Amino acid sequence: MLSHSKKTEKVNNIIVSKFGGSSMADANAIRRSADIAVKQGSSVVVVSATYGTTNRLVEITEAADSGNRKRIVELLAEVRASHCAIADDLAISKSSLNELHELLDTTETVAYNLEETARRFRDDEMSGFETDQSKTDQAEANNNLFLIIQRLRDRLFGMGERMSSLLITDHLNHTGHSATCLDAGKVIRTDDRYTHAVPQFDTIEELCELHIHPVIDGKQGHIVVTQGFVGKTSEGYDTTLGRGGSDYSAAILAWGLDADILQIWTDVSGMSTTDPRIVPDAQPISEISFQEAAELATFGAKILHPSTLIPAIWKEIPVFVGSSIRPENGGTWIYREVGKAPLVRALAIRRNQALLTLTTTQMLNTYGFLYRIFRVFNDHRVSVDSITTSEISVAMTVDDKTLRDRALISDLEDLGQLNIEESYELISLIGNNINHTAGLAQKVFTALSDINVRMICQGASRHNFCFLVDEGRGEQALRKLHTEFIG
Ligand code: ASP
Ligand code: MG
Repeated sequence: MLSHSKKTEKVNNIIVSKFGGSSMADANAIRRSADIAVKQGSSVVVVSATYGTTNRLVEITEAADSGNRKRIVELLAEVRASHCAIADDLAISKSSLNELHELLDTTETVAYNLEETARRFRDDEMSGFETDQSKTDQAEANNNLFLIIQRLRDRLFGMGERMSSLLITDHLNHTGHSATCLDAGKVIRTDDRYTHAVPQFDTIEELCELHIHPVIDGKQGHIVVTQGFVGKTSEGYDTTLGRGGSDYSAAILAWGLDADILQIWTDVSGMSTTDPRIVPDAQPISEISFQEAAELATFGAKILHPSTLIPAIWKEIPVFVGSSIRPENGGTWIYREVGKAPLVRALAIRRNQALLTLTTTQMLNTYGFLYRIFRVFNDHRVSVDSITTSEISVAMTVDDKTLRDRALISDLEDLGQLNIEESYELISLIGNNINHTAGLAQKVFTALSDINVRMICQGASRHNFCFLVDEGRGEQALRKLHTEFIG
């Protein structure tokens, strides 16, 4: 597989391979993943938590918020049982088993700590205060408790990766290979936006130099295993990069190490022209450009965390996406430039979209209106997927769940008349020269003549053409467009 790399010269001999939750699901999956890493000559292996573990940890935090002790106990027991079963099946060493039990004990301690802190937080919020001074004190105490809760949550979320990385490291070592487990927190420095921490790239490169290079340089065959998803602030608090963030971790490390190849091993053999569950004729994509793949990841294909390609693009690191269950099936290579650049490479669907239209006569002949709108989105850390504007109004799509942010809505309402329409699906055509191809839009709308289309976005990108359809019509639109453009 490696011979497919477009890099003519292998400069650093560094391959970073990431194995997702399904590639770490049980002892057999871990054996398979370790085997792939060895065969591929990976220098750095980044792992997700075992399948289902992060969901359980998230559920523990929810049970802590509602004070549901019984559920916490159940979930902790499930986490313990599933990890012990894998450890047993892999027959890990005595010392690794001890370490695993320590990690499980820590998981429990953190979970109960969180439960207790959440209880205090709720109690404080409920008790009334008489004077203004005591109100201010109370607010401050509450903020402190909330910060502690956030830190405990991220510490808990990262425990799954700590355990899975221990398991695969032990397995590699006792099957005759040499591997060390590195605490990702030593390298993935982040800010303190808990649960959605932002990597601090300027420090990460140095930290890779300090903590990874000495372990792998000149030691062919030695593997550094580390946790995806987790990071650390400069103050030493654990953070996480957002759900699905292990892909991003691997890309950050590939960037920091100037790797030759980044591999993402998952449960499907790469990207397809569209979701094969919706369109059975969907075809595998063997090569795709960075730009197209980034659009695809952002606009609906769930296969890669949308930020993954950013660091890879910066250093033009080829990315391979393949299945750890069927590695022999090959997968998708993502390069800066690819041989074929079809007009339409793929189709994506993004569900649960809302259309926000903001209208104001103030926009007429003035400047700064778009700035004011996007400052609001920026302040609320909400991303807008697509936008169109006319002289006096701006239409934008966002995920439905964004509407829960009442403060965002009210800030937007301050800027003009806000109209909100929910229940749309965003369909994207992803390809090349899309904004320069005469007749494309006509072909699209002829194919979809019986489907109502709203908000069309074309022109901003050579790689994307998107529009909204009513909820429930998106799959039909995908099938028609697939027949029309991909066949
Ligand atoms: N374990 C984390 C999650 O499930 C990160 C990842 O797997 O990418 O979200
Ligand atoms: Mg994933």
